[in-house]
Amino acid sequence: MLDITQYSTDQTVAFGAGQRRYAGEHLRAVGCDRVLILTTPQQSDLGLELAETLGPMAAGVFSKATMHTPTNVTEEALTHLSQSGADSVLSVGGGSTIGLGKALVLHTDIGHLALPTTYAGSECTPILGQTENGKKTTMSDPKLRPGIVLYDAELVSTLPVGMTVTSALNAMAHAVEALYAEDRTEAATELALEGIAAFQRALSVVMENPADLEARQATQEGAWACGTVLGQVGMALHHKLCHTLGGALNLPHAETHAIILPHATAYNEPAAAAELAPILELLGGQEPGKALWDLAKSLNAPMALKELGVAEHDLDRVAELATQNPYWNPREITKDGIRALLGRAWVGAAPQA
Ligand code: NAD
Repeated sequence: MLDITQYSTDQTVAFGAGQRRYAGEHLRAVGCDRVLILTTPQQSDLGLELAETLGPMAAGVFSKATMHTPTNVTEEALTHLSQSGADSVLSVGGGSTIGLGKALVLHTDIGHLALPTTYAGSECTPILGQTENGKKTTMSDPKLRPGIVLYDAELVSTLPVGMTVTSALNAMAHAVEALYAEDRTEAATELALEGIAAFQRALSVVMENPADLEARQATQEGAWACGTVLGQVGMALHHKLCHTLGGALNLPHAETHAIILPHATAYNEPAAAAELAPILELLGGQEPGKALWDLAKSLNAPMALKELGVAEHDLDRVAELATQNPYWNPREITKDGIRALLGRAWVGAAPQA
């Protein structure tokens, strides 16, 4: 079990099956007594369940959280928030719902308690990506990191196996890129490796028995570690490629991360062999990118961009876009190199350095 107390963060974080039932106590402890619950349309029942648990503290359920935090949804939620008289929000869901909570905090400075139901890690970061008229912009502000995060293993035990795998690989991608980040620190590297190890240990158990709450909690500890390093150090080629693919072709977030991770890792191997070597100690194998590809394959993850509906002729445009204003990366990013990487990811071939 990961001892999170040795890693200092400015959040209140708790783990445990059933933790969602203590949300009211946590909010009252920071002076909040009226809370608006946020969910996606798909998770509105969970919002209603929480409203019942919170009783008179609940100021309503707003169930329109949407991927990439469109500003028109935020505006509607802001109106709802001001009419409800709430002094805090509770986001129960994945990165999309937690993103809406952050967007509301940006405009109002209210309290924010997050109950994550995926492994994407947004609850640990001060980062907010928003879309307006189809254009996504990203900002970072310490006040956007939710003050309280409750990891309730029961909430991820309903995550379908396919989403479990892609969301876990999404989380591991934060940790892999933290290993070679330009501004990496020893502490972030240690935490990143803890995160990968937690998923490596727990995922096979969860695949056998998705309702195993102990193993689910271990995956959430991994998500916390991976999300925390995402908030601490800069990301590189992998995240740039996923943002470009997601933005240009409107691809699903976690699946795109799952497919690209082995390829981006392999691309960076020649320039970051020592930094990536600990992955081999955790996953086995000779090459980190190939080890991640083998892991993804063993978990039945989607392996090819064409499975997500990407057309081969889109790859040139994506390579062009991904090499414009590139993020810092350990290896030089060339258009030919990225086009070749995308070609392999499109067809589902093994990664190459
Ligand atoms: P998501 O929040 O978009 O959820 C995807 C779908 O899965 C939704 O329909 C949701 O209702 C459903 N779902 C979530 N949990 C479930 C569960 N336990 N059981 C059944 N269904 C469930 O997916 P995500 O991958 O968590 O988040 C993606 C979004 O988060 C993207 O917009 C991404 O940019 C953002 N994100 C932001 C950060 C950050 O630090 N700002 C970090 C990671 C992700």
